[in-house]
Amino acid sequence: MGTREHEIYDIVGIGFGPSNLSLAIALEEHEANTSERPVRAAFFERQPRFGWHRNMLLPQATMQISFLKDLATFRNPLSRFSFVSYLHESNRLAQFVNNQDFFPTRQEFHQYLEWAEAGVRDRVTYNSEVTEVRLVEAADGVEQHLVIVVKDTVSGAAREVKARNITVSTGLVPRMPDGMERDERVWHSSEFLAKYGQMNPEDLKNVAVVGAGQSAAEITKYLHDMLPQAQVSAILPSYGYSVADDTPFANQVFDADAVDHYYFGTEKTRDAFWRYHKNTNYSVVDDDVIRELFRRSYEEEVAGEQRLHFLNLTRVKEVKRSGSDTRVVLHSLLDGESEQEMDVDALVFATGYSTLDATSLLGDLDKFCQRDEEGRHRVERDYRVVTSGELSCGIYLQGGTEHTHGLTSSLLSNIAVRSGEIVDSIVERRGAGEKV
Ligand SMILES: Cc1cc2nc3c(=O)[nH]c(=O)nc-3n(C[C@H](O)[C@H](O)[C@H](O)COP(=O)(O)OP(=O)(O)OC[C@H]3O[C@@H](n4cnc5c(N)ncnc54)[C@H](O)[C@@H]3O)c2cc1C
Repeated sequence: MGTREHEIYDIVGIGFGPSNLSLAIALEEHEANTSERPVRAAFFERQPRFGWHRNMLLPQATMQISFLKDLATFRNPLSRFSFVSYLHESNRLAQFVNNQDFFPTRQEFHQYLEWAEAGVRDRVTYNSEVTEVRLVEAADGVEQHLVIVVKDTVSGAAREVKARNITVSTGLVPRMPDGMERDERVWHSSEFLAKYGQMNPEDLKNVAVVGAGQSAAEITKYLHDMLPQAQVSAILPSYGYSVADDTPFANQVFDADAVDHYYFGTEKTRDAFWRYHKNTNYSVVDDDVIRELFRRSYEEEVAGEQRLHFLNLTRVKEVKRSGSDTRVVLHSLLDGESEQEMDVDALVFATGYSTLDATSLLGDLDKFCQRDEEGRHRVERDYRVVTSGELSCGIYLQGGTEHTHGLTSSLLSNIAVRSGEIVDSIVERRGAGEKV
């Protein structure tokens, strides 16, 4: 995409995962339905091409939301960017329906995302990492605006783009336990397929996966499938995997209405959401994956050939590396004392992600951003960071708003509706001279 250096964009999107892809679609559909001046937008993504958690696109791993919670349908059921429209264009609609499954594989959903991305590709520049955002104060003949510094990840060259608003949609950040370092034998789940692909499977005779969430369970299952001669150990901090609550009443926490209930609720309301419904998404595993792992383990026990091991109430205390040798020191929480050592050829930490924190990207701009008593950004209902009066430019967050907008903040469930709300906000503020 050829961005124009002198133009002041209405919005610049940082990151081009599903959130900003959905926003680009909402902008496209806004444009198609209005005679107003189009919202001028540009998006920057550091990856060389579109990709959604590519290193976790394990065969048979399924989506954890209905296919109807796609990039557009909940905002605009007539959208040409819907999952149904994609199926129709791929000549697979009838077969998809015959398959009678609400939850497509992540590989199929990825194909859908790529198909949708192709429809808005003219708005995005890849190999482009945003490294800094600065404020330019209003001066004679120049309105207040933001300067976004974009580094070309191939050439290293930096350039600047101007905007009235930004949307920070940079996603989750992989989290390793304190003191654990990644290397060619010690991986985080976010790099799993790339790292696994660099190994000779015959060299992987002992592998271990740390964690008790969905990614941990999926990787354990995958390694057990792919390495039929290997010992596969799952190191669980819990007594066993806990099931993800996907039942209808609980699932309502992901509805668009729930954002209002959460946002306008009291502290007690918000606390209730987390206390009662955290198990819809966090550190939990789909029922079928849990049952499949248990079934395999039981069959091996019956056959007297156990190679799938579950080390429950166990934590990794230390990882000792020497050449290609990796020794893991395990600490049992059963008695709080005993330790054992295990040699592994690969160790995968499926230990989750930290939520998006825009602070470092915002740099000096952060001083205009208001924070709550716990130091978190205060955020308007339209996902705009609450800023002090001197700043009329908008900083929108897609992600990192769990404390204000609830459980869907870093998920796909509500992105279609959220992106529509952000477009409405930008258009409305532009009409009001950006002073809202
Ligand atoms: C394995 C896995 C499976 C998941 N499955 C589901 C699911 O089934 N349902 C669900 O609701 N949620 C799921 N999630 C949650 C996940 O957060 C969302 O699916 C989704 O990725 C959120 O989209 P996003 O665009 O906000 O963030 P991301 O998809 O993380 O995209 C952010 C993008 O920003 C780019 N970026 C970061 N920093 C910069 C920068 N400085 N400059 C330029 N680009 C930058 C990144 O390269 C990335 O492409 C899953 C998460 C994982 C890890």
